[in-house]
Amino acid sequence: MKIAIIVREETMQRCTCKGCLNAFFQKKDAFSRYEDDLTLVTFTHDGGDIDRKIEMMIKNGVDAVHLSSCMRGKSANYEPLAKQLSEYFDVVGYTHGPEEGKEPKTLIINKADKMF
Ligand code: SF4
Repeated sequence: MKIAIIVREETMQRCTCKGCLNAFFQKKDAFSRYEDDLTLVTFTHDGGDIDRKIEMMIKNGVDAVHLSSCMRGKSANYEPLAKQLSEYFDVVGYTHGPEEGKEPKTLIINKADKMF
């Protein structure tokens, strides 16, 4: 299963992304939901040309996009981006830490049925 992780651009200026990477490679927290083998094919931030990034992710066969926990906690773009991505991918709205988090509610969107 091919996974993309998108983190908050501003946070990425000072974060080494260890929490996201640990969760992915140890298959814990947001990634414990998968039984399949995982391949990380995209690790990027939400800035720049997001439409181009989405095009590349489609081309690279991404199945599910994880928005980072800092996107959930600090980005006004969290919900709009999750909805945009859900046109093409399953979306899981966090990476490390608990699924509940604080507000806003964690978005988990299955591309097939668009559950919000
Ligand atoms: S979710 Fe955590 S580890 Fe990942 S980029 Fe944000 S602050 Fe860093």
